[in-house]
Amino acid sequence: MTDELMEGTLEIILQVDRNGKITEANRSAKEELGYEEGLFGTDMKNILKKEYEAEGADWNSVWLQLERTGDTVFYRKNGTCFKAAIHLTRGGENGQDFVFALNMEYSREMEHEVARVKEQANQAMAVRNEFVANVTHELRTPLNGIKGHVENLKDTCLTSEQRRTLSIVEHCCNSMSSIINNILDFSRLESGKLELEKREFEFRKMMDYVAETNMAAINEKGLRFYLNVDEDIPKFVIGDELRLSQILNNLISNAVKFTSVGFIRVEVTRTLQFNDELELFFMVMDSGIGISPEEQDRLFKSFSQVDASITRQYGGTGLGLAITRELVELMRGKIYLESRKGNGSNFSFSVRLNTTQVSPELEAMRKDIATFLEQVKSPEELEKVEEYYRFGSEENKKEIDSRMEKLILCIELGAWEKAELWSEELKKLVDGADTLLKRAVLRLEMNVRKEDYDKSVAQYETVKQLLTQGKTTTDERNG
Ligand code: ADP
Repeated sequence: MTDELMEGTLEIILQVDRNGKITEANRSAKEELGYEEGLFGTDMKNILKKEYEAEGADWNSVWLQLERTGDTVFYRKNGTCFKAAIHLTRGGENGQDFVFALNMEYSREMEHEVARVKEQANQAMAVRNEFVANVTHELRTPLNGIKGHVENLKDTCLTSEQRRTLSIVEHCCNSMSSIINNILDFSRLESGKLELEKREFEFRKMMDYVAETNMAAINEKGLRFYLNVDEDIPKFVIGDELRLSQILNNLISNAVKFTSVGFIRVEVTRTLQFNDELELFFMVMDSGIGISPEEQDRLFKSFSQVDASITRQYGGTGLGLAITRELVELMRGKIYLESRKGNGSNFSFSVRLNTTQVSPELEAMRKDIATFLEQVKSPEELEKVEEYYRFGSEENKKEIDSRMEKLILCIELGAWEKAELWSEELKKLVDGADTLLKRAVLRLEMNVRKEDYDKSVAQYETVKQLLTQGKTTTDERNG
């Protein structure tokens, strides 16, 4: 251990020899235990009075006892004492032991201090939130006043110059509104006061509405816009429609803001659905100015914009993406960015929502089960199947004849794959026959597999003969 570390720490550090005599001590030890002249040569007996009370106690037994209990009482030179949490290390240089101890009053003090600082921070946060809420409210009132008057003015007789000025004033009011909303949201998110709604809404309708909201700006810049919504997404989902729209509006309006030519593409896919829970994955891509890797790191932090010149050109507070990220995380999702300077950006994010509709896969599975249940054979049908495989039955004979005909045709045509299928089927149909016939059919199947025409034909004839013999014997028997 370095001297600085030993001297700088709050911890008491004692080096003790095998006889329980202190050979070295750090500054905390001297101060805490009240030995200004130093501790060299002091017996541990003076410090660990309680442990040494036991009969026959020596340093070694005290050591073992301390190792078990972990904390003890340390006695100062003046006779006062304090509780200490200790930690021991055996066998340093020249067989020396180390005792590390911390006055527990300090740790309690520290705990109090941490709690006090936390409380102070919470109070400061509460004051700030209240301040933000008041200020934003106070700002909103005059702003709404301006908006109302602009609206009224628009209905009067105006020159085109005046109309243009009014539309600029209106645009400024809208920007200011959105900045105020952002500040309020940010403050609520930071204090954990923003709660998401859980209400059913029509997903596709929300997407269309978001697209519509941004369409004017997109058209104004002459950009192409594509929207693709996965058909697997349930019609109705449960979540916070407004906040989800806010995330999308933030990303889309950024995409429009930073793209002068090309396109904006929005895609939504369903990545997961388990019972009533589903995960959706959104992508907002643009062909705009892009963002360099260094700048990307800073992006989701509050009040950060990639560089001052961009801020000057495009405006904004740098709160949009920080809010977006927090909202995405509240929806149990993640946000990602892929971008190259000058080569467009792709902001993507996932969110978890709920639905009362079952997933198409589950629906399909249910249908399959229903069809299967329908197809399950009635007892009569099962009997028919049994009859079909019972060697010698009418059904079985008919089936064998038909398979044999098909088989020889395939052999003649060299359709070996099909021939193999028929010979396999034949094998199943003669399962109840005598060994001779069963073996002959097996050999036939093997020859077919080898695609050996001559042997296959010869074996076919043998099987045929055995079948006719069998037929006569069973016929005779039946007769
Ligand atoms: P603001 O609210 O000011 O727009 P944001 O947090 O939404 O702030 O965005 C922060 C910065 O990230 C923007 O100023 C811009 O530099 C960069 N940025 C965001 N989206 C894009 C994008 N699609 N293309 C290029 N840069 C972007």
